[in-house]
Amino acid sequence: MHVVVIGAGVMGCATAWRLAQVGVRVTVLERALPGAEASSAAAGILGAQTENDAPGPLLELCLASRALWPQFADELRVASGVDVHLLQLGLLELCTTPEEIALRHQRAQWMTARGLRAQWLDADAARALEPALGPAVLGALLLPDDGQVEPPLLARALALAAGRAGAEVLTGQTVQRVAVADGRVNGVQTDQAWLAADAVVIAAGAWTDLVPDLVPRRTAIRPLHGQLLLLHTGERLLHATLAGRHSGGRHGYIVPRADGRVLVGATTEAIGFDKRVTAGAMAWLLSLALEFVPQLADARVVDQWSGLRPQSADGLPLLGPHRAVEGLIFASGHHRNGILLTPVTAEVTVNAVLGLRQRLELTAFLP
Ligand SMILES: Cc1cc2nc3c(=O)[nH]c(=O)nc-3n(C[C@H](O)[C@H](O)[C@H](O)COP(=O)(O)OP(=O)(O)OC[C@H]3O[C@@H](n4cnc5c(N)ncnc54)[C@H](O)[C@@H]3O)c2cc1C
Repeated sequence: MHVVVIGAGVMGCATAWRLAQVGVRVTVLERALPGAEASSAAAGILGAQTENDAPGPLLELCLASRALWPQFADELRVASGVDVHLLQLGLLELCTTPEEIALRHQRAQWMTARGLRAQWLDADAARALEPALGPAVLGALLLPDDGQVEPPLLARALALAAGRAGAEVLTGQTVQRVAVADGRVNGVQTDQAWLAADAVVIAAGAWTDLVPDLVPRRTAIRPLHGQLLLLHTGERLLHATLAGRHSGGRHGYIVPRADGRVLVGATTEAIGFDKRVTAGAMAWLLSLALEFVPQLADARVVDQWSGLRPQSADGLPLLGPHRAVEGLIFASGHHRNGILLTPVTAEVTVNAVLGLRQRLELTAFLP
């Protein structure tokens, strides 16, 4: 069996790694370099709880993936030699208004009813946990089980692990056509070669809808631009990830790495395939950072970048086999949660390719 994977982001490389591990011949085709797009740009929050507004299929998928992360990170370190810096230090949803406090209490209720840990902290308790929080913070919902990894390390580790397990990762190859005959895929045409394939995995992220000749699917995938800013505080100032609504009304987050780097994100801009980093976005990210943590005023500005989230129209990823075309499998549309969802996506995509029974309920995600 020969499987062709289109795209060497975290979805393509994780799937290729897992397929190669079980002896499947797999070729990954990447237009640029592994991890060149969203997968290296992400903040890396494993926000299974914070990213969900209500119980439902996406929450369950996110929880299943979060549970896989510790073992996945360990296995990946052994396979690639790269540590992806998994930190499980929790996340604080910060409140700056009475309305937000009421909302967080509601969130705590449904999370607790689902059996998840979520604890309300008043202002003093929040500050006891994170002394650098500013006076604007009136309280916080602590989600102790949401964590983080470092996406650029993850992208590198997965590409290395895939290659070492025997997958072929071809860079600088743009897929121009997915060939379908008699209701099943039989190969792909790149700008350089024809590759015959028994199965094709679509892991092209925000560019999924640009892969020519792809059959219609449940939802369109559109790029949603996000800009990020990286600061460095020297000594570590924060431990938990912070998320909340800035007084200007927009939502953002602050992700502290263990070595004193602090990532501030992120904008959400529907502006097509445009990755410019703008002065206005940087001004907003800085004002969010200083409102929540005033001491960040002394931090060094280290870097800034942006990426394109693969956003589906209904907010759910496309996972599994296409209903009408045999051998065509989707692993795309993970929007804001692709880093979190990497381990579970690799699992369900491998099962779909090999025709194995899925342990998870995936109906809502079928392409
Ligand atoms: C600013 C920002 C912050 C984020 N923060 C988080 C976070 O905190 N937590 C989280 O879980 N997720 C986060 N995400 C989301 C996460 O980054 C994505 O969901 C995930 O990386 C998607 O992975 P992918 O492999 O599908 O896509 P990508 O990494 O974009 O990979 C797709 C690859 O396909 C290639 N490709 C496309 N078309 C073709 C073609 N025709 N032929 C060959 N190759 C092709 C591209 O070059 C690209 O390398 C964030 C994203 C952004 C942009």
